[in-house]
Amino acid sequence: MTETPALRREPASSPDQDYADRVAAFIAAHPGLLAADRWEDPATPPVRELIAALGSAGLLRDAWPNPAAAEKKGRSALCLALGRAIQLHSAFARVGNGAPGAAVLTHLEVGTRLLAHHPAHLAGLLDGTSTISLAATEPDGGSDLSTLSTVVRREGGQLTVTGEKWFISNAPFADLLLVLADDPEHATGARNGPALLLVAAGGGGVKIEALAGSGHTGLTGAIVLDQAPVLEVLAPAGHGLLMLMRHWIHERVMLSLRMTELAAGVLDDAVSGARERQTFGSPLLTNQHVRFVLAELSAEIAEVRSAALQGVRLLVEGTCSAAYAAMCKYRASVLLRRVADEALQLAGADGYRTGHRAERALRDGLGLALAGGTDELMLMQIGRG
Ligand SMILES: Cc1cc2nc3c(=O)[nH]c(=O)nc-3n(C[C@H](O)[C@H](O)[C@H](O)COP(=O)(O)OP(=O)(O)OC[C@H]3O[C@@H](n4cnc5c(N)ncnc54)[C@H](O)[C@@H]3O)c2cc1C
Repeated sequence: MTETPALRREPASSPDQDYADRVAAFIAAHPGLLAADRWEDPATPPVRELIAALGSAGLLRDAWPNPAAAEKKGRSALCLALGRAIQLHSAFARVGNGAPGAAVLTHLEVGTRLLAHHPAHLAGLLDGTSTISLAATEPDGGSDLSTLSTVVRREGGQLTVTGEKWFISNAPFADLLLVLADDPEHATGARNGPALLLVAAGGGGVKIEALAGSGHTGLTGAIVLDQAPVLEVLAPAGHGLLMLMRHWIHERVMLSLRMTELAAGVLDDAVSGARERQTFGSPLLTNQHVRFVLAELSAEIAEVRSAALQGVRLLVEGTCSAAYAAMCKYRASVLLRRVADEALQLAGADGYRTGHRAERALRDGLGLALAGGTDELMLMQIGRG
């Protein structure tokens, strides 16, 4: 499919409006890259192409809270960057059945943040010339990351890592892997507990295969590491989980915004569908029950969105707790499945078609109740306070 040229734009009135306009222009200019069917085919989700195009348009770099600028300009720089990230995720929740947004969120809010203090690698990620995944979960368990079978060892003068990971977002397209691994021989530090390591995905000792799942079609992968050389120790033994726990506060708040905007997109479609669909001689929307269901979902979306935006404010202030981030993630995950389920039912058999927006959202919503910490783990975190 040929790409249409970028939209001509009037000069924007503020940097934020300018960013929103650039995202809209990017989306309009890349219909082929963002077409839903490309993201439904497990063999071809164009993750690399999308990240490369976003990077070369400067959209990743401009939504990145550059630590040096944030230090100089204080909270305003962080606020601007997070505001832009929200614009990016909100817009991407509406295209390609919401699927491309999963790859973008993993890249921007997970990978680049965990490499924030590694400028040599960060530059490629923000320019979109390299891609990255976070590999924590193992086939034997993802909720309890304190007991891992992936291990780091020192062999000769070289650190290597051996083990298996699975359901790792963006792994089939990654150049770099952030790997959580146990360090029984204290090869990276004197403490007990996992280390966080950087590994080249294309280097020796690494095999990656795309996994089939109900949702997130083609986007997750299984990784086998067999004495894969470690490029860098990002957090030594005993510090890997600590680094991830701090990171998850940010990831869960941003993920909750993405899920809320996915739900809002599904609801908008459901409203249009109910307006057009005729049953018993009148539009479905003329039934009070249908209007009440849609109104209730709309109120729930507004509620969960406000909670998530409050989470962003707390991130900017540096006071967002793990419990608050877990509340946001839990509520948004329940919301997305509820909205998708109701919207599918309202669309009748059409909604049951593979690739219908509500059907995809329901499948992806099930995955998002697991990814980034399961609903049950969120409830445990909320209970701990
Ligand atoms: C679409 C998708 C994307 C993902 N992306 C990534 C990624 O990029 N990187 C990565 O590392 N992982 C990723 N994951 C994996 C995800 O993080 C794990 O699936 C999740 O952490 C749960 O681990 P598990 O599947 O091993 O389930 P288990 O830990 O085996 O848990 C099984 C069930 O028991 C529940 N449970 C566990 N312990 C308790 C308890 N004490 N009390 C009550 N209930 C409990 C869990 O909530 C779950 O429902 C992804 C998963 C999906 C589906």
